[in-house]
Amino acid sequence: MPVSLYMLMCLHDPAHGYYATRPAFNVDFTTAPETSQVFGELLGLWAAHEWMAMGSPSPFWLIELGPGRGVMMADMLRAGRAVPGFIEAAQVTLIEASPALREEQSERLSDYTITHSDSLDAVPAGPCIIIGNEFLDCMAVRQFVRDGNGWRERQIGFSGANRLAFGIGPSAELPSNVLPVGDHVEVAPALETFVESVARRFRHDPGRALLVDYGPDDRSPGDTLRAYRQGAQVDPLADPGACDLTADVDFGRLGRICASEGLAVHGPMQQGYFLTRLGAWERTRALAAANPERADEITAAVTRLVAPEDMGALFKAVCLAPVAAAAPPGF
Ligand code: SAH
Repeated sequence: MPVSLYMLMCLHDPAHGYYATRPAFNVDFTTAPETSQVFGELLGLWAAHEWMAMGSPSPFWLIELGPGRGVMMADMLRAGRAVPGFIEAAQVTLIEASPALREEQSERLSDYTITHSDSLDAVPAGPCIIIGNEFLDCMAVRQFVRDGNGWRERQIGFSGANRLAFGIGPSAELPSNVLPVGDHVEVAPALETFVESVARRFRHDPGRALLVDYGPDDRSPGDTLRAYRQGAQVDPLADPGACDLTADVDFGRLGRICASEGLAVHGPMQQGYFLTRLGAWERTRALAAANPERADEITAAVTRLVAPEDMGALFKAVCLAPVAAAAPPGF
């Protein structure tokens, strides 16, 4: 089978898939909103700023893609209360594949009226702000290997009785919006569908989509499929369905797809710069002053998000917007 089908089955199989059965936050992996509340708070204020830039539409859709445990939305909404009218206007809807995580999100956000939606297309028309942290890296990727002047698709199958192995399939065409460097390239077909869906919304109503994720900004990823279990990187073929699988995001291709759909892209901007420009250190100092017994811990967590040798340079923020909109804060 193609690598993309393997990834889809491992993550989303309703009986045995990772997200259906055992997404283990803070065990298999830790994300930015799980590291510091400052992350979600700054994104909440970012969203409120863009809501005002859109003319403060009421109501509007506040859509989160892959909200995990719901921590980021809780931090966003708490911070968003500082902006009059924002919370009252926000119709929060969460797009989440995992039934277990949907339940946890509903509990954590029980002070607010929220709904779940099956996909972006399922959210009714209207102005919207879309946010997603570590959502695009979950998209299933096809892998291609150079063969002379052409390409072949990498596949996964059995080698021996019970062992999975990579192999090379028939020759295949690369999509035109991929710019490979080297002999391996990864392509997430769903990235195209996703941007088309955002573009369709923004053609009729004002909107912004802010995505934070990891990946190179200047070339298409090669072989970056990775599996994580209990904080360690493991063999992606060793225990299908038991590990989180991810791949780098191709920000260059994302930009090219947006251009062909008539959308502007701001960024990719390194997370460290993005958060610093949004006021990460001002907020950290205020939090530390209010909680002196936790000041070191609070500062260390934000340092992890911002420092280039930690998450600050690897992670990037991009904003998809209608071309006429002014550059959003942080870019
Ligand atoms: N944003 C959260 C979680 C990131 S993990 C955080 O930063 O902590 C990825 C999230 O996306 C999980 O909640 C996972 O269940 C969800 N997810 C992955 N693929 C999805 C899909 N195709 N549709 C909806 N949700 C998906």
